[in-house]
Amino acid sequence: MTPLLEIDHLSMAFRQRSGFLSKPRLIPAVIDCSVSVSKGEVLGIVGESGSGKSTLAKLVLRLLTPDTGQIRIDGSAIDTVGPREFAELVQPVFQDPYSSLNPKQPLSSIIAMPLAVGGVRRAEREARARDMLDRVGLPARLFRSYPNQLSGGQRQRVAIARALVSSPRLLVCDEPTSALDVSVQAQILELLDEIKQSFGLTYLFISHNLAVVERVATRVAVMYRGRIVEQGPSGSFFSTPRHPYSQMLLNSILPPVVGRPLPNLAPTRRSTIAEDAGAGCPFRVHCPIASEICEQAPPVMKTGDGMQVACHKAAQPLTERGQALNPIGG
Ligand code: SF4
Repeated sequence: MTPLLEIDHLSMAFRQRSGFLSKPRLIPAVIDCSVSVSKGEVLGIVGESGSGKSTLAKLVLRLLTPDTGQIRIDGSAIDTVGPREFAELVQPVFQDPYSSLNPKQPLSSIIAMPLAVGGVRRAEREARARDMLDRVGLPARLFRSYPNQLSGGQRQRVAIARALVSSPRLLVCDEPTSALDVSVQAQILELLDEIKQSFGLTYLFISHNLAVVERVATRVAVMYRGRIVEQGPSGSFFSTPRHPYSQMLLNSILPPVVGRPLPNLAPTRRSTIAEDAGAGCPFRVHCPIASEICEQAPPVMKTGDGMQVACHKAAQPLTERGQALNPIGG
């Protein structure tokens, strides 16, 4: 299938200064990430807080600039296109519909904002914004309302309408349901599914909620400390995770079963950034099957059975999800 989004060896570090004249300390946030998403796919990006998934989303949205590497959407390098063309390539749906909508603007202006950035004339902006309000299931009478007059679910529908109004090819959904009640979450996920079909969209879907990702994603990429450590088809990932860190994540959401040891998510010992950033595998301090090779060299990404896994022992048979073996402290 044709790739819609191509992320090629992307790296970015934040610079932190302890004083005005001090040299900045580099804090790596995204390290040599490569991933591609085909047209019509939903790539779920999972990982714990601080794993770099939101930074990756911000790089795709041009809210941050990479140090090295390249991002292409529909064949265009995103650092070479103007604002109008960029608005037609990608749009965001953020986590918190309370802070992502300007409380001083009516919905008519909020939804039409990407068109205003692209220089579209006012009459056309209004007509397209009205159409989007209807497409996301909101009544026309709300067109001149303000965000504080809406519920959380309605606000997230407005955020989705704003994302759709410029007819983008890619939506970057960064935790789009985690600030909502469970019943509203299901409605928003259904809406995202409907508009994906009717607009022919592709999604980069970031979430710490593996149940949500299992429901929406066709492919999954797992991030750990800025690196992608495993990626592949969603069904294969959720039935048989290959990387020990992925197994730890999935074991953490399994329902308790009598006779199966509870997952122990505590690291085998507390690590430091220096230890994790050393020559070996960054997961070695926490990994129960680490061996000498893991201390000496970082694992390269291996491909097999449609999955890509960065682990020296990825070829060894690993646990099936839900079986008794728990590699993390079990
Ligand atoms: Fe564990 Fe070694 Fe694989 Fe890293 S490379 S995840 S330390 S087995």
